[in-house]
Amino acid sequence: MTEAVYDVGAPEPKPIDEELSVKLGHLAEDAILRGKPNGAERCDNCLYYLDTDKDITYCWHPKLRVLVGGDWWCQWWEEIPED
Ligand code: SF4
Repeated sequence: MTEAVYDVGAPEPKPIDEELSVKLGHLAEDAILRGKPNGAERCDNCLYYLDTDKDITYCWHPKLRVLVGGDWWCQWWEEIPED
C-alpha cells in the first residue's frame, strides 16, 4: 500500500501578512523601536511596559500598543515614577 502524498506547497505569507508587516514596520520606524536596550533604558524598566514580571508584554504607549520584549527600547522610553 502506498501512502498518499499531497503537495500543499510551502507555507507562504498572505496579503494580510504583507499589510501587517508594512504597518508594523512604519510603527517601529516612527518609534525607533529596537530589539536591544539603549544603555540602561529598556522596555522592562519603562513606564509603558505593562507587566514587568514578563519577558514579553504589552506596551501601552498610545503610539505603539503592541507586544514588546523586555530588553527592547524605543525613543518614547519613560522612567517609572517613584511613587
Ligand atoms: S514606550 Fe518604548 S521603551 Fe517604553 S515599553 Fe513601549 S516600546 Fe518599550
